[in-house]
Amino acid sequence: ASTNNESFIFLPHLVASLERVDQTYIMVKPDGVQRGLVGEIISRFEKKGFKLTGLKLFQCTKDLAEEHYKDLKGKSFFPGLIEYITSGPVVCMAWEGVGVVASARKLIGVTNPLEAEPGTIRGDLSIQKGRNVIHGSDSPESGKREVALWFKEGEVVEWEPALAPWLIE
Ligand code: ADP
Repeated sequence: ASTNNESFIFLPHLVASLERVDQTYIMVKPDGVQRGLVGEIISRFEKKGFKLTGLKLFQCTKDLAEEHYKDLKGKSFFPGLIEYITSGPVVCMAWEGVGVVASARKLIGVTNPLEAEPGTIRGDLSIQKGRNVIHGSDSPESGKREVALWFKEGEVVEWEPALAPWLIE
């Protein structure tokens, strides 16, 4: 019997590549909003080529901030962190793509802005850990959890960017 080798080779590859599409939760923190950095920050992700699937300006409650940062409960900076995150509106974003979680962390830079490389968002735009302008999920699992935590059903939109063939071969 003749087999169509092409489909045998191509299909698993396609399935594997589909499985690697991750989502990450990115948030411009209240200092970034107050300092007028929203456009600059969104622009860096747009230029990189990832797909925006959710976006809103939002006043975070204490309960939501505590849930989001529950792994840090008990740290000395936790109360200050909750106060910071709830001190004004944040911009919530969901971004999607292959490798988006790790790549977004690179665009963002390390937690301490004084140690963050120039060229990164924190490295270019901030000086203190407690005012480091942006959040990004630390793993694909966190990305899923955080997008579900911050966005309601229907707020995350599936769409096909017209430029996709110019970004993904
Ligand atoms: P990241 O946001 O880089 O993933 P963490 O998850 O460790 O970092 O911490 C979450 C946030 O808590 C940081 O982005 C920062 O705003 C704040 N934070 C962390 N460590 C400190 C600290 N030592 N002092 C003040 N704020 C801190």
